[in-house]
Amino acid sequence: MSIKKVAIIGAGVMGCDIALDLSSYNYPVILKDVNDDILDKAREKIKKDFRLIKMMKKKLTSMPFSELISRIQFTTEYDGIETADLIIENITEDFDAKKNVYLELKDHSKKNAIFGVNTSCISITKIGALLPEPENVLGMHFMNPVPLKKLVEVIRGYHTSEDTIEKIRSFLASLDKTATIVNDFPGFITNRVMMPMINECVWALQDNVATAKDIDKIFRDGFSHEMGPLATADLIGLDTILNSLLMLYESYNDSKFRPCPLLKKMVDAGLLGRKSGEGFFKYM
Ligand code: NAD
Repeated sequence: MSIKKVAIIGAGVMGCDIALDLSSYNYPVILKDVNDDILDKAREKIKKDFRLIKMMKKKLTSMPFSELISRIQFTTEYDGIETADLIIENITEDFDAKKNVYLELKDHSKKNAIFGVNTSCISITKIGALLPEPENVLGMHFMNPVPLKKLVEVIRGYHTSEDTIEKIRSFLASLDKTATIVNDFPGFITNRVMMPMINECVWALQDNVATAKDIDKIFRDGFSHEMGPLATADLIGLDTILNSLLMLYESYNDSKFRPCPLLKKMVDAGLLGRKSGEGFFKYM
């Protein structure tokens, strides 16, 4: 079975950009979230991101937005999801919330459908155990912004079959992306390393060692990073960073993952980064 149709669950930061990217490669997409208000915002986000990404990705310059959006079916229902060959789940980084979705998807997906779990830190093996065919479950850790990032960290859960890995490898190749395959361990490679780095920058900010601007400048101008860690945290979402650190802390029982109180305070205050308009920096 080759992948022809894709369902995306969760139309937030990642779900919108994955839908945009897949549609730009002619895949029909179903994009599901919990209510119509969120779906209206998702349409707007896709439109805004399309305009921005068009300036950086040649492929999009000749595609009218009306064509791109026509391949995305927005829905709050599970109807139609049983037609998808691949289901990419991108809901909030919370195991219990994800668990409920997989228990519902069990009754609304076709046999042999592949489940791509987009998560920052949650165990793919644990998600696989919720489904009758854990061999069809793998992690698809997309990088943000999806249409501009070539790499996807693909995570092999305990039961993931080589057949599933190979199907996803060729699916990603059809999107001009490469898969780096890693084994399932909390945070995989990317977030096991990046989350504590971001967290340490927040501790440094809290200790007043330097301003947010200067912390990021050190990484950009000193280490030639494309973005500083605090701007990266704003792009990802501070709630996602906090949930990821809590998950790593619990998984490894290691204090090196203890979230900085300033990060918690900012999330409590609704400063979530780009998606709320303010995080370590302001976006208006
Ligand atoms: P987000 O908060 O922007 O969006 C999550 C979306 O899921 C929201 O629109 C929410 O309404 C929806 N949702 C919640 N429960 C749902 C349900 N039961 N059914 C359908 N939709 C539901 O989060 P995000 O940043 O897009 O992250 C999504 C996942 O991707 C997380 O697991 C995160 O760790 C992972 N991830 C995020 C990034 C990033 O840069 N933001 C990068 C890689 C992976």
